[in-house]
Amino acid sequence: MSDEKFDIPEQFASPAVPALLTEDSVIQFSCFKGISCFNACCKHADVTLAPYDVLRLQKRLGMNSEQFVSQHTVPFELDADGTPGIKLRTDDDGACLFLDGDNGCSVYQDRPTVCRYYPVALLNMREKDTYEAKQKYSLVREDHCKGHQEPREITLRDYRKEQGVEEFDALNRSWYELILKKKSGGPGVGKPSEMSLQLFFMASFNFDMLRRFVMSDNFKATYDLPAETYAEVAEDNVALIKLGNKLMRQALFGEKTIPEKSGAWEKRVEERKEAWEARAKAEIEARNAKAEQQMRDETTGGSEI
Ligand code: SF4
Ligand code: SF4
Repeated sequence: MSDEKFDIPEQFASPAVPALLTEDSVIQFSCFKGISCFNACCKHADVTLAPYDVLRLQKRLGMNSEQFVSQHTVPFELDADGTPGIKLRTDDDGACLFLDGDNGCSVYQDRPTVCRYYPVALLNMREKDTYEAKQKYSLVREDHCKGHQEPREITLRDYRKEQGVEEFDALNRSWYELILKKKSGGPGVGKPSEMSLQLFFMASFNFDMLRRFVMSDNFKATYDLPAETYAEVAEDNVALIKLGNKLMRQALFGEKTIPEKSGAWEKRVEERKEAWEARAKAEIEARNAKAEQQMRDETTGGSEI
């Protein structure tokens, strides 16, 4: 382990310094309806959502992603640059709105990754010189959770299977890697523009808007994608999420993840030339006005002595 540099995104890290577990680690834990603490965890819900969580929940609720995000989530910032994330909405006491009294979770089959893993915390880390997300785990012990006192032992490998997290992890992995790279890329990556952050939000959580964007004439005129890709993303949300991840890499890190049509950049430059020239002119005028004002202030200040 000494040759590895780990970088744990805050939002996926436990407050305590975690003892790292692997898939071979054995935990003692069991949770079932009828346990004395049943639902206690959902009454203190702090559930960060990843793209595939949103997809599963919106489908479950028969909503589009815009409706789901506005009705069931609250925004928060994933990092100091204001990269936008979302969490499940709770009531004023912190209880998850999907908690259905004594019946427990009303969306159980489609519950988010964080809920599936609990009381295990998923830690996405990177090794030195790579941005590949490597999954490690830690055990979260909270007083209200009595499942740790149950006499069942299980490996994390089997626990992941039991909780059905493999599909979620596989589809969210590229997104976790993107956040890792964003967070640990250092000054070379730099602070993203407001437009890049908006694109990040759209590609991560607003699949309806992302689909409209990708199917637009402007997008098709810029990117060199085969007709089959457009046919696929028109119907398939998972294919859309994957294309969205590539778009985010392009916007945040300048990676050429989606081929552009030849001449598309020059055409865009030509189209925007007028606007850029006007903006540059306005900036020069504002700078000159500021310098003039400064000179006036200094002159006035001098005459007052
Ligand atoms: S989604 Fe379900 S399991 Fe997760 S916090 Fe809400 S009620 Fe609990
Ligand atoms: S055992 Fe833990 S995870 Fe299960 S209901 Fe109780 S508090 Fe929640």
